[in-house]
Amino acid sequence: MAEPHPVEPATLTQISVLPKGTRPLIVCDIDEVVLHFIPHLEEYIGQRGYRFDSHVYKLIGNISALDGSPANDETVRSMIQGFFDAHAGEQRLVDGAADSLNALSEFADIVLLTNLPGGHNKPVRTSLLERNGISFPLVTNRGPKGGAVAALAAGRREGVIFIDDSPSNLRSVRASLANAVLIQFIADARFLATAEPLEGLGLKTNDWHQTRTYIEGVLGG
Ligand SMILES: [Mg+2]
Repeated sequence: MAEPHPVEPATLTQISVLPKGTRPLIVCDIDEVVLHFIPHLEEYIGQRGYRFDSHVYKLIGNISALDGSPANDETVRSMIQGFFDAHAGEQRLVDGAADSLNALSEFADIVLLTNLPGGHNKPVRTSLLERNGISFPLVTNRGPKGGAVAALAAGRREGVIFIDDSPSNLRSVRASLANAVLIQFIADARFLATAEPLEGLGLKTNDWHQTRTYIEGVLGG
């Protein structure tokens, strides 16, 4: 997909109502960063007779039936949607996410930016996060996140940190906002281990305490 990727109107509308802070900004993904996703999805597709082909970091083109026949793109998309519709309210929190984000919010503004398929699941997600002590603004997006992060950063003079598991989102933000500090966070150790090196990453991790310490160092918190 061409970069820089423009922000979609539905996302821009959500961003336009957020207060414009003067502190550093941390833009943080949810799935596989704040909430576990891969193991939940693996269980869901397993119950339907599918499995991951490998721990290469992608979903489309990486899921097959147990007899080895590859799941087509439509099947994968519909299983991902089905998973969120059934289980978005039950995903487990990644260890340390709530404490670390709350500590960082002492000196930085935090916005959660999620590509949650189907905007109708946003209230369920918000309520799950709030029950777990995470109550920062939540913005839903579609496609690569560069445009959305650039819109969130517009007019701010302090540093921007972007945390996401997805290589395409990290590349997109790098293309749209060259001075953003990029953190690749992949909670699942198997997928973290096989993630290809990405140009311009500040940190690659699955540990929230390490993430917090790193951000405090970058922002001087
Ligand atoms: Mg994610």
